[in-house]
Amino acid sequence: MSTSTGKPTTIPEHNDVPVLDKVDVLVAGGGVAGVAAAMAAARMGKSVLLLEKMVMLGGLATAGFVVIYLPLCDGNGRQLIGGISEEMLLASIEHSYDSLPEHWRKKARPAQGKQRYQTLFNGPLFAMRLDELLLSSGANVLFDTAVCAVVKDGRRVTHVIIENADGRSAIPCDAVVDATGDAVVFNRMGARTVNGPNYMSYWAYRTGIQEIQTAAQSARVQDAVRLQTLGADCDGKGQPDDVPVFDGLSADSVTRMALEGRKAALRYVQERPAGEVAFTGIPSMPQFRTTRRIVGNEPLDFARDGQRSETSVGSCGDWRGTGVTLEIPYGALTSPDADNVLAAGRIIACAEREAWEVARVIPVAAQTGEAAGIAAALAGTGSVHDVDAQAVADRMRQAGHVIHL
Ligand SMILES: Cc1cc2nc3c(=O)[nH]c(=O)nc-3n(C[C@H](O)[C@H](O)[C@H](O)COP(=O)(O)OP(=O)(O)OC[C@H]3O[C@@H](n4cnc5c(N)ncnc54)[C@H](O)[C@@H]3O)c2cc1C
Repeated sequence: MSTSTGKPTTIPEHNDVPVLDKVDVLVAGGGVAGVAAAMAAARMGKSVLLLEKMVMLGGLATAGFVVIYLPLCDGNGRQLIGGISEEMLLASIEHSYDSLPEHWRKKARPAQGKQRYQTLFNGPLFAMRLDELLLSSGANVLFDTAVCAVVKDGRRVTHVIIENADGRSAIPCDAVVDATGDAVVFNRMGARTVNGPNYMSYWAYRTGIQEIQTAAQSARVQDAVRLQTLGADCDGKGQPDDVPVFDGLSADSVTRMALEGRKAALRYVQERPAGEVAFTGIPSMPQFRTTRRIVGNEPLDFARDGQRSETSVGSCGDWRGTGVTLEIPYGALTSPDADNVLAAGRIIACAEREAWEVARVIPVAAQTGEAAGIAAALAGTGSVHDVDAQAVADRMRQAGHVIHL
């Protein structure tokens, strides 16, 4: 390809990228999945470095203002998810308000089974507690550090190329957990992925005269702020006619999503009397529900509701209703195209959209993060395909996850 001047439009790769110290496990992305992965691997004694392109942890759950920690239970009174995901839920509400049903706080099965183990939380406080959780596990973190490329040897990533305030550098590693939400590592190494559609969603915090008065009367700080959702829901209901469905896979698509969201928020304020409402926080990352997911060895499959998976590393319910329970096969975290890279969070392999709807939420993202971190630690310098799923499951069970339904 060339420009109108006839000059080539690509620049040959620079050869002077400095190589930093090697780590055992490199985690790309510091959302709930990445933090859980890093904590799990560090607790197994591995040297772990987490790379996050923003300057805070939590991803969509904090910078994205998604402030409902969806259920750890199946909806019929049985807790399925424990471990680091439960630690995170409790940390998210430790210093502030919550909406956790009393039964779950007391660890008693709810008399009314449908009261679910879920809660509202304060995003900024959750981000601060994630710093503490991550660092106390022994993992290290670099903020403002974007993973931009990889160096490969066959189907192994030998180095991850990063860009930050120091410029570009390369980090050698034994194993990688891709928790970027966008499958950046898998994409950069050429592994197969699938894409999903995104409707225009914009979740932000606002306050207003009415909320402030209500809070003054109730003496509940949470009454002073409201989560304002604008645009479409996850099924596309409410999608503005003049806004396209986004894939979130190009700079243009990401930019347009951010601009459309802020435009909708500004319109919301303009349509009200001046001074009646104000935004107290707007998201600093695009609120895409799905961009890329991996093509895995054994995708999570909604059609296998209630069925046993011999390679299960955890199980989960469906946040949208009761009755559906899925076991998560280890192969949903691994790709046939990658020998030392694991998927965590909203990029794990799903057979169809229904499975992905179940897997993409905060509790399950943290759960698959923990499983990926354990598997990365067990893989050592070997292949993730040789890791015994049973060994991952044993550690997940010890941590408090239900493996088989
Ligand atoms: C509008 C909306 C509403 C939702 N509502 C809920 C809800 O109510 N409850 C719920 O439980 N879930 C909800 N979800 C889903 C849930 O928030 C996310 O799917 C979940 O938090 C994903 O976690 P994750 O760690 O996999 O990914 P993310 O939270 O996306 O984290 C990925 C992290 O990787 C970083 N990263 C990306 N690329 C790079 C790179 N190249 N280098 C370094 N770092 C990088 C990002 O900055 C980010 O911090 C919602 C999602 C959306 C979009």
